[in-house]
Amino acid sequence: MWLYGNVSTTVIDPVQLTASDRCDACGARAYVRVELESGSLLFCGHHANQHLDKLSSTAKHIHDERSLLSEESAS
Ligand SMILES: [Zn+2]
Repeated sequence: MWLYGNVSTTVIDPVQLTASDRCDACGARAYVRVELESGSLLFCGHHANQHLDKLSSTAKHIHDERSLLSEESAS
């Protein structure tokens, strides 16, 4: 019950990645979050391409915003 009793109004949706989320491999802006049993990993588009195949079998959830990346790099 305590889990649902005090949902804050100002918390940003934790699913959304922001400019402060950085790739664990190179420090660039992260566009993919991989949630594992042990925690979560953040990857830029480049490293997501490198690691996602391997991680997808063990990941509980993969949040992928690489569609945003292609929009930005096009401009
Ligand atoms: Zn990276």
